[in-house]
Amino acid sequence: MDYLEKLNKEQKEAAMYTEGPLLILAGAGSGKTSTMTHRIAYMIREKGVDPYNILAVTFTNKAAGEMRDRVEELVGPGQNLWILTFHSACLRILRRHAEILGYGRDFAVYDPTDQKTLIKNISKELNIDSKQYKPAYFLGAISDCKEKRISPEEYEKIHGDDIKAKIICKVYKQYEATLKKNNAMDFDDLLLNAVKLFEKDEAVLLQYRNRFRYIMVDEYQDTNQIQYRFVKMLAEAHDNICVVGDDDQCIYQWRGADIRNILEFEKDFKNAKVVKLEQNYRSTSNILNAAHSVIANNRGRKDKKLWTRQEEGDKIVYFRGESERDEAYFIAGEIDRMKTTDRRYSDFAVLYRTNAQSRTFEEALSRREIPYRVLGGLRYYDRKEIKDMMCYMRLVQNNADDLALARIINEPKRGIGGKTLEKLQTLAAVRNESLFDVLLDREVIGSFSAKAEANIRALAELILSYSGERDNMKISDLYDGLLVKSGYLKALEDQNTLEAESRIENLMEFKSVIYDYEKEDSNISLAEFMERIALLAEVDNHDADENAVVLMTMHSAKGLEFPFVFMPGMEDGLFPGWRAFDSEDGLEEERRLCYVGITRAKERLWLTSAETRTMYGKTDYTRESQFLRELDKSLIEGNAIFEKKRQDPSQGAFTDGVSSAKAFKPFDQLKYARQQTKQKVAQMSDAFVVGDAVSHPKFGEGRVSACDGKTVTVEFAEGSKKLALGYAPIKKV
Ligand code: ATP
Ligand code: MG
Repeated sequence: MDYLEKLNKEQKEAAMYTEGPLLILAGAGSGKTSTMTHRIAYMIREKGVDPYNILAVTFTNKAAGEMRDRVEELVGPGQNLWILTFHSACLRILRRHAEILGYGRDFAVYDPTDQKTLIKNISKELNIDSKQYKPAYFLGAISDCKEKRISPEEYEKIHGDDIKAKIICKVYKQYEATLKKNNAMDFDDLLLNAVKLFEKDEAVLLQYRNRFRYIMVDEYQDTNQIQYRFVKMLAEAHDNICVVGDDDQCIYQWRGADIRNILEFEKDFKNAKVVKLEQNYRSTSNILNAAHSVIANNRGRKDKKLWTRQEEGDKIVYFRGESERDEAYFIAGEIDRMKTTDRRYSDFAVLYRTNAQSRTFEEALSRREIPYRVLGGLRYYDRKEIKDMMCYMRLVQNNADDLALARIINEPKRGIGGKTLEKLQTLAAVRNESLFDVLLDREVIGSFSAKAEANIRALAELILSYSGERDNMKISDLYDGLLVKSGYLKALEDQNTLEAESRIENLMEFKSVIYDYEKEDSNISLAEFMERIALLAEVDNHDADENAVVLMTMHSAKGLEFPFVFMPGMEDGLFPGWRAFDSEDGLEEERRLCYVGITRAKERLWLTSAETRTMYGKTDYTRESQFLRELDKSLIEGNAIFEKKRQDPSQGAFTDGVSSAKAFKPFDQLKYARQQTKQKVAQMSDAFVVGDAVSHPKFGEGRVSACDGKTVTVEFAEGSKKLALGYAPIKKV
């Protein structure tokens, strides 16, 4: 039993307490998850419990995977025990008994993309204005209902005559009917149906109760009502249930997590034993105290303070960069500096509030050739919409880039299917021409449907015109033009889905990329720009050993730990996010998230912010995060920037007071970027007559001397220029 000797007295007590309800309520890094894994090992090795009788559930696949690894280290591999996420445990059960609920066993599981498609179809069938009612609106409402177990019929009763509720109800009804008809369940159904199954068929319930005589739940503070019911039903007869959690780490209330589940555990399970762990083994005392100084500002919490035997450790570093780029370069520099031979890159984590922040870090890390992994999202340049737009730009740069053309010829839809494309490619090969040349052949495209022909003509004209203008244009103008005139932006807008929205966000974020390069070199040519981006995009940052810096959101870092942690974007509006300004509850949840973030760090923690932040190509001043102001200053180490700021009170280092800058609003920036993109292109398309005074971003002001419907000739100070009408960035003045 030497493996138990590593545990402290309370942990050991909990690990060896295997019969009857047990609550381990303790702060971050106090060994809750470790205690649970040791408890499993103790049951198997010492108590002779069959692994078959054990069920351990948690929230993320990563956490479940780590728990499985830790258990296998103690009991050896290949054990028949269930260590799973809630969703996969429910799915396994449902696969065996779905018939009881009227599903086929091979039912499909619809992911969020499938769900959106389904809602879109239903909206169409029911003649619902999809501009006014977006799929996300219905999906949110439906998910909410399912969590609260409200059927469409009940929903109708509750909300009566409210017009919006009536529409939701209609969609909800149809949605449920279609899922059933398609023999499909969505993610919420997995949980809900498992519970329904147990309620409907006692024999099945008894079978699983009998099987899972030992139940454990990690991160119990984040369970919602359905998950609670699932666990409770299974545990009811034997009461061998052990839950583990920390009320200060509840970060999923916005998704229905109910903190009462953990706070009322003792009422739910009579004679529950409660073990509190107070020693933190993860972090230095500076890190721990920093976390405490922030979370202490939450009103509705049980005060508890962790202690550690570890030394003070280094102070927390705060850095306020001039821009988000500056911030990212600082972080990459720090990683380079700290990465000594006895450290791995995977010892470093950058934890941000939103996925959209990853891009600047990817770039800064790439430049220093530091390997990284983006967890829970694609690398920025791997995203479809970014690759598509880069292909448009490649094609403008080089009309003979067949690969680029093949990728975007039907993006957006132009009526060119795979077969047609193949034919065109064969033709190009036979004639020894580029694909683009083939598209310029009137006879060839004359054989398409009228619509496809028109579309292809427009595409060819677009590429040719911009190829002609590209050296006279700023890349940002070219990009906006391509985005609008190719129809790519509109196609996404018409989709009107959450996914399309996030693609638009990424496309707008690409404007920040371009502005960055233009800021550095205002005369950068398209060729140079494309080369530099291509290098960035192609750097192979994936390491087989996964020895790479980890980039992820704070939400997905729950339960994990790293020696070195960076928390960027400590700015009001970003973190705490703008939702926090709506309600005190919202702010408290963000504060718990901050606590989760800080307590991931074992040895060192860096907090950073940027004086100005460019998002979606728009730059704004920022205000330092309220959480920085709450932090115990004595734990923080100033640096050059920090000192500089102190001399310049207008920007207000967080030491005192609130600066004049407003809270940052990513949402407004996105709106602005979209409007500006379209406006700019609309202005370009103006008609001109001889004599008009015009202005051009590169050539300055001039006067129109000729105009033939396709081109316009303008006399500028540096001479006469013939420009493509509708493509060249000229404006009347
Ligand atoms: P969180 O709230 O973040 O989920 P936790 O309470 O689950 O944290 P663990 O992840 O189990 O904490 O443990 C934190 C760290 O402390 C781990 O690195 C673990 O190995 C170490 N640890 C736990 N208990 C002990 C102990 N008794 N002696 C030494 N190290 C320990
Ligand atoms: Mg844990």
